[in-house]
Amino acid sequence: MFRIVISTGNENKVREISDVLKEFDVDVVSKDSLGLNHINIEEDGHTLEENAIKKARELWKNTGGIVIADDTGLFVNYLKGDPGVHSSRYAGDQANDIDNNNLLLKNMKNVEGKERKAFFKTVIVIIDRNEKIHLSEGICCGQIGLEPKGDYGFGYDSLFVVDGIGRTFAQMSNEEKNKYSHRGKALRKLGKIFSEILYETH
Ligand code: IMP
Repeated sequence: MFRIVISTGNENKVREISDVLKEFDVDVVSKDSLGLNHINIEEDGHTLEENAIKKARELWKNTGGIVIADDTGLFVNYLKGDPGVHSSRYAGDQANDIDNNNLLLKNMKNVEGKERKAFFKTVIVIIDRNEKIHLSEGICCGQIGLEPKGDYGFGYDSLFVVDGIGRTFAQMSNEEKNKYSHRGKALRKLGKIFSEILYETH
């Protein structure tokens, strides 16, 4: 079994990634569970790609093996693509999910219809044992709800109503969220690459 280290301290993400990769014989762990929580990369890139590569490279330098980093943004029509690449610190450098969600709702007050359209985009970077970089991305379209709904998930999940489903990510189990989510799509695209990487390392 191969160990895959994820550049996150967010156990929700580790669970989502483990679910999608369960067909492979891999052990998915977070960097924090390996005591590497001191590796905190400043996400100062102009794109999700730049940030994800930066996070993966730093982790790879510290662990070798196979690492995964992702960077995700929520892009809202009315806000001209904000919070976008700044999604994690939308309400400030020390902001938590509640602060970010509150600010989003405040900025979307009295906004109706199409203007509430939004999408999540995830870029996933894998660096393999040979330091080769593999990239994949996934997008999920939806709209910003008028109020938070649901008890699961994290981040902006309770405000994001998925197109064609009419429920927020926070109203879905992990398994269901993975079916539709930006991260689930990006990971599934990496399935083929994953087989190759694992085969090469045997
Ligand atoms: P990061 O790329 O993990 O740093 O995420 C950027 C921001 O988007 C953070 O505020 C996360 O909480 C939020 N975020 C990332 N992925 C998701 C998701 O799947 N659902 C809801 N919010 C997310």
